[in-house]
Amino acid sequence: MSQLIMIETKLQCRFCKTDLTPEQVFDSSGVCWPNQHWISFECLNCHREAKIEIEKTQVSIGDIDGAPGPCFFPDSTVRLRGLKIKWEWWGVEIHYADRMWRVKSKSTKRVATKSNAVDD
Ligand SMILES: [Zn+2]
Repeated sequence: MSQLIMIETKLQCRFCKTDLTPEQVFDSSGVCWPNQHWISFECLNCHREAKIEIEKTQVSIGDIDGAPGPCFFPDSTVRLRGLKIKWEWWGVEIHYADRMWRVKSKSTKRVATKSNAVDD
């Protein structure tokens, strides 16, 4: 006997409440903040910008607010089986469902390193 396990894999736009698949969210992503593990994206339906936060296999839609330090407030969260995420100085690489997305960092400044810079 097999047991059917329902796994919630839809995120919801915080503005228009449209259900979005993880693929749709990653497809409409803009820039990311590697230090905070945030990515911006534009909703397919209402075209308003929100943020997503990724921690390991958990993806949340929400927004960033607050002083003195910005903080992420999630509205909707899913856990994605098989999600792999690699944060790099230049941005982030997302692997999910046999697809791959690359999102560039908001700050495109090169990180200074102690070794000699490599010419482009
Ligand atoms: Zn929306």
